[in-house]
Amino acid sequence: MRQDPKEFSEQIIAWYKRHGRKDLPWQQNPTPYRVWISEIMLQQTQVGTVIPYYERFMQRFPELQQLAEASLDEVLHHWSGLGYYARARNLHRAAKCILDEHAGLFPVTQAALMDLPGIGRSTAGAILSLALEQPSPILDGNVKRVLARCFAVPGWPGKGAVLKRLWSLSEELTPSHHTRAYNQAMMDLGATVCRRSRPRCDACPLMQQCRARAEGDPTAYPHSRPRARLPSRKVVMLLVHDGRGRVLLESRPQSGIWGGLWGLPEYADRQAAEEGLAVWFGDNYQEIAVWPERRHSFSHFHLLITPVVIKLAGRQEWVMDGSSRVWYNTDKPDQRGVAAPVSRLIEELIQRLEERADEPYGGLR
Ligand code: SF4
Repeated sequence: MRQDPKEFSEQIIAWYKRHGRKDLPWQQNPTPYRVWISEIMLQQTQVGTVIPYYERFMQRFPELQQLAEASLDEVLHHWSGLGYYARARNLHRAAKCILDEHAGLFPVTQAALMDLPGIGRSTAGAILSLALEQPSPILDGNVKRVLARCFAVPGWPGKGAVLKRLWSLSEELTPSHHTRAYNQAMMDLGATVCRRSRPRCDACPLMQQCRARAEGDPTAYPHSRPRARLPSRKVVMLLVHDGRGRVLLESRPQSGIWGGLWGLPEYADRQAAEEGLAVWFGDNYQEIAVWPERRHSFSHFHLLITPVVIKLAGRQEWVMDGSSRVWYNTDKPDQRGVAAPVSRLIEELIQRLEERADEPYGGLR
């Protein structure tokens, strides 16, 4: 690298003083706990989306102890809509671990932080630098993009050798003083100037030395992941309702998609669904409608959901095992973590029931 690290960081910090973001909620009273929550929320999610979630989360769990002592269900409920729920499960596990194994004191070394669930090297660096002004480098998505472009680093950053090169650049350039301002500046620069598409090179403090810009197409960096066709998985989801505003929910296994959240009963196909319904309800149910398939994409596959609406016959009281199956009262929703696509299906069911309540079968066809 021919770049002088001191000069580089000074340019970045000078830019930050004039243009950086200084009034984000987690920048006020930046304790390790507050910075940690924000960093986890900001993984895969943009600042504008995170802010209201962060504020609600901090209102309910202002200190680590409240988070550690809350139920996982309640934590997931506060996470509902943010996606990537493993982040919330790890937050909860890590909070318990800090309470039990560190006497409630937030660890302040990179190694101890990286021992906690869900904290990688960059998140540890962000906590140490942004909360404690330690000279710890970071490499989140924004920083990767700025460095890959400025130094024209070829290859996809998911590849070990490329990641190693980017970390080594980050280490060389991170100053030992004013690390908080520098790291925040790099994140801000990536988020607001060196954007994924349409980078604003004319407003960038690195425009003179940026190699990707000199090559004429900054968006060529970082290189994309080699394309692989994502596989699809089909499922049938049952919207079982009892005609009195209650919908059957099942708790999902802790591992796998939407782990630990509540979801609709799910089967591989219609026949398996019918067999499941027969076991549960005998012939006291009626299939009311099959809605068109809808797609929900994860990073590694597409989930193709066929929703089937089932109405239970009569007014029987089905006995539920509250730990794995519950009647979810749509009139009075409780504090329960439900994945966003499942919430949308339930809302659609309620809407259709309300709109066409006087039609045969409640207008659900
Ligand atoms: S000059 Fe353009 S491509 Fe280079 S770092 Fe700045 S915004 Fe990114």
